[in-house]
Amino acid sequence: MEGPSCPTDPMFDHNPWFKTVLPDYKELDTASLPAGYDSGCEFTSVCINTAMYLQWLVGQCLKNGVILKRAIISHIREAKSYSHTGKPADIIINTTGLASLKLGGVEDQAMAPSRGQIVLVRNVLPTMITTSGTEEGIAEILYTMQRPAGGGTILGGTYDIGNWESVPDPNIALRIMRRVVELCPGIADGKGIDGLSVVRHGAGLRPYRKTGVRVERDRLDDGTHLVHNYGHAGWGYQGSYGCAEGVVELVNEIRRENGQSLEGEPRLFCWDTQ
Ligand SMILES: Cc1cc2nc3c(=O)[nH]c(=O)nc-3n(C[C@H](O)[C@H](O)[C@H](O)COP(=O)(O)OP(=O)(O)OC[C@H]3O[C@@H](n4cnc5c(N)ncnc54)[C@H](O)[C@@H]3O)c2cc1C
Repeated sequence: MEGPSCPTDPMFDHNPWFKTVLPDYKELDTASLPAGYDSGCEFTSVCINTAMYLQWLVGQCLKNGVILKRAIISHIREAKSYSHTGKPADIIINTTGLASLKLGGVEDQAMAPSRGQIVLVRNVLPTMITTSGTEEGIAEILYTMQRPAGGGTILGGTYDIGNWESVPDPNIALRIMRRVVELCPGIADGKGIDGLSVVRHGAGLRPYRKTGVRVERDRLDDGTHLVHNYGHAGWGYQGSYGCAEGVVELVNEIRRENGQSLEGEPRLFCWDTQ
């Protein structure tokens, strides 16, 4: 997912690579599409409530012995002194997202914000909908995500590269809601925007990287190993397991080079069922 185009574009490829991966994938008949749409597909997928998921992840880390510390660093080398062992760390993993643009020792000029604005509503739309673009320019996109466990529905959104504004814009919010109720009037019982019950408006800065995600080995000036894992733009949750696996592979490569034996260590994550 690189480049200034709509991040969901790969979803609209003909004969896409994921058609054999996603359950229940099927191309839709033109007759079943909303007016104005030429083609479409549907498939079964998952949607997470990130507010709950992040808490769960912290719990998993604690359960597995991770020691968490809170601090702000201005240069990546400072992370060396935060090892739970009390000794300087041998390996540092840099997962500072958009802050990698300015963090001393990283200062990656390929990083930029991709501003995303959303509206969270209480209304329920069980089907997640994503379209290939809108008539309001490449920064404005249309998607909906119903969050599990009574988390409401996210109405999206924008994908505005280079925009640092963290406050939601009321005009953009109106356009987001209008697009959604026009495409799916049922979400608001046919009452238009007035039928939406808004929980809150939100805006966030995705950690976009012009040249794509960076999962890579590096070194500090003093030779300390560094592994980067940042620049996931709008797919940081979706890609997190794969990227974490990539980090583990790189860390294990370093450990082997340092003469450590990894025999008998469990894999972090595995698709195999046994
Ligand atoms: C509106 C919107 C919609 C999105 N939708 C999706 C989606 O549908 N699917 C999906 O997968 N992703 C989505 N994303 C993207 C997703 O949120 C990001 O890709 C993901 O959060 C990136 O995770 P990260 O851990 O790399 O960076 P971050 O979540 O930004 O975490 C970086 C961490 O580093 C810390 N940090 C940074 N600098 C320092 C420093 N100097 N000292 C100490 N700590 C520091 C920060 O405090 C932060 O905790 C969306 C984002 C937005 C804004």
